[in-house]
Amino acid sequence: MEYRQLGNTSLRVSILGYGASPLGNAFRVTDPAEGAAAVHLAVERGINYFDVSPYYGLTLAETRLGEALVGLRQQVILVTKCGRYGADQFDFSAARITASIDESLARLRTDYVDLLQAHDVEFGDARQIVEETIPAMRKLQAQGKTRFIGITGYSLKNLMAIAAQVPVDSILTYCRYNLMIDDMDSELIPFAKQHGIGIINASPLHMGIITERGAPDWHPAPQEVRDAGQRIVALCRQHGLDASEVALRFCLDHAGVASTLVGMSSRKHVEGNLKCLELRNNPALLEEIRATVAPVANLTWPSGLPENYG
Ligand code: NAD
Repeated sequence: MEYRQLGNTSLRVSILGYGASPLGNAFRVTDPAEGAAAVHLAVERGINYFDVSPYYGLTLAETRLGEALVGLRQQVILVTKCGRYGADQFDFSAARITASIDESLARLRTDYVDLLQAHDVEFGDARQIVEETIPAMRKLQAQGKTRFIGITGYSLKNLMAIAAQVPVDSILTYCRYNLMIDDMDSELIPFAKQHGIGIINASPLHMGIITERGAPDWHPAPQEVRDAGQRIVALCRQHGLDASEVALRFCLDHAGVASTLVGMSSRKHVEGNLKCLELRNNPALLEEIRATVAPVANLTWPSGLPENYG
């Protein structure tokens, strides 16, 4: 396993990170025993970055991850979030953030996390995030409940506007750098380098679009993006390759990203994703993929409060 420094923090994170949202049945109902086995296999094979949130499965993912990590806590970098508690439930107040961490720590069966992130900040009032949420998170850091703090979200414009006003240690974004899109590269990466902020890239499979199974019903991308995903799958199949592996390898190759998070809840997916560490993508195939995706490349969807879109 290769590890990279997360910005200016002391955390050295595995370039392949474990997204725990599927443990909370985010994509489909998953078997808890298989989920725990997937977590154990990931730790055994050197994955040390584990990402979860109270939102995933409405606390179920945190509970299952906490159970699976009993006895393994010291081997992992444990990351959770605060401020998002349901599809339409957000509370970024200092009082909620302060209570939230204690609830998460209980479910995760630990007394600190390595990184606490305000979850999907484009759904909140930017002024509140800057003046109330982040300062409350810094207090939790001073109390030893989290080692570092960060923000997550879809809107690059909003993430950068917040981080320009108040220092954060990390930024996680998703569906902004993979085979379907690369605008994270031109906007967020130079900003993060300049400020010493660690970057986490999530959803290398574009939240399930670049998989044989295809996207879940709730996926916000328009049909033409889903169709392009299936064209990538077909193209890779013609070359005897699994599109999810090609997609993940493409993301792992980004040296400006500390960790790429894939959602996993089965040993089969952990094994498949670990295999990508050994793969090399063929530049000619990447060119073909670029051409087939071109009509919908860099297509985004609205997320959060209208004033935060972007
Ligand atoms: P993803 O693009 O990683 O896709 C996950 C889907 O692909 C799941 O259905 C999974 O079962 C399937 N999959 C995984 N490995 C596979 C393989 N080898 N072959 C075929 N299918 C495979 O999307 P994601 O889960 O949305 O993102 C990864 C993680 O990042 C999440 O679990 C979550 O922890 C985190 N995340 C955070 C935010 C945020 O903070 N706002 C947003 C998105 C994702």
